[in-house]
Formats: sequence, C-alpha cells, structure tokens
Amino acid sequence: MPDTPFAWKLRLSKRAKRPRITINVYGDVVLVWPHTMSQRGISNMLQTHTAWVLKHLQAIGDKSKHSVVLPKQIYLPALTQTWLVKYEEGKGRLRTSKEQHTLTLIGNLEDKAALQGALRRWLKQQAKLYLNVCLAQTAAVMGLDYQSVSIRLQKKRWGSCSAKGNISLNAALLFLPDFLVQHVLTHELAHLKHLNHSKAFWAEVEKFEPEYKENRRLLKQYTKHVPAWLTEQL
Ligand SMILES: [Zn+2]
Repeated sequence: MPDTPFAWKLRLSKRAKRPRITINVYGDVVLVWPHTMSQRGISNMLQTHTAWVLKHLQAIGDKSKHSVVLPKQIYLPALTQTWLVKYEEGKGRLRTSKEQHTLTLIGNLEDKAALQGALRRWLKQQAKLYLNVCLAQTAAVMGLDYQSVSIRLQKKRWGSCSAKGNISLNAALLFLPDFLVQHVLTHELAHLKHLNHSKAFWAEVEKFEPEYKENRRLLKQYTKHVPAWLTEQL
C-alpha cells in the first residue's frame, strides 16, 4: 500500500459503482472501493487525492465549531506532518506518549477538557521546537537580534513584539503553511526596528518579503483553518 501522509482505511463495497474517499467529523478517512474493481488503482487514487484529504482534515475543526470534537488526526501544514491521535482509557493522571507521529493520550476519556488541555500542551511543545529555530534563522537573515521568544496560545494574534525585543508567537502558527509562518516572523522581527506600522516599517518588511501584501491577505483567510478543538471550549 502507498505511503500517504494521513491514515486511512479501506472498505470494500458491494454497492459502490466507483471509488470514493469519505472523511467524517472525527477525521477518519475511508477509501470506499467497489469490491469487483481491481485494487491496482488504489495507490493512484490516494496519491491524486492527497491534497484534497489534507485540506479536509485541516478544515474539520472549522466545520465542527458547534460540536467540538477531539481530533483523530492532526495535520500541521507548517511541518508538513500528520499526527495520529489515539485515546486510551487509563487510571491516574493523564499521560501522553509520542512516537513516530502518533500521540497517545492515556487517562480518563470522559474528561474532555483534560484531553483538550493535553492536546494544547502538545501543540505548544511542537511549536516551541519549530518556531524557535525558524525565528533564529529569520532574524539572522534580517540581521536583527531579539531578547527572548515565548510560545503562547492566543485567540486573536499570531504574534507580537515588545519594546524590549521580546517576541511572542502563537502555537497555532503550525496550522499555517510555511510561507505564512515566515510572513508572521518577518513582521514581528521588523518591529524590532520600528515599533509601529509606519511606512518605514513596511519598507523593512518588503526588503525581505516583497510579496508581503498578498501574504497578508492570505493570512486572514487561513485563520479559519485553526481547528475548533484548539480555540473553542469543550
Ligand atoms: Zn505589527
């Protein structure tokens, strides 16, 4: 079977006339395949639909805003990684184990708020590992020095920069594609030179990101890709 960046299950169907891929609100991806059809086409079907599946996995949180569900798969575009999330009933404090892009939460599965908290903490850890490196690299390219960086979970802001040069970044940046993460980092770092949105500030941004206007517009659209399990109360 082909190596896909998401988990899926095959269901052979007697009724289906042609193959299709379904994704439910929990992020279960099922390939429905007519049972009489040769399975040689499966690999091709999955490959040609990869972008479509990933887009849907990303949008799941958005669709389920009114009934927030805990995810079974988490796609992080910034890292081009998909994580499987497993939930196991267990006694004692909630534990997490991370292996090969599988996150296992072990604890009281009735306690949704605790599970959500664990997912948020995990995301922050992932964000810290990735964003610290990215920020250092981008700062070096721009020839700028910052004091410190902190990773937070914020509802409204992607990042901020203080007068003292402390940069704070939103862990939800991992739900953006890499070029938009760069866009946010460039913006916050440019504030080290100009703590405002003056012409001089935008000129500084433009030096390192000529297409910043277009990216700014895209960033607004991408806000809806942040899944509900991250931002909404369970
Ligand atoms: Zn700004």
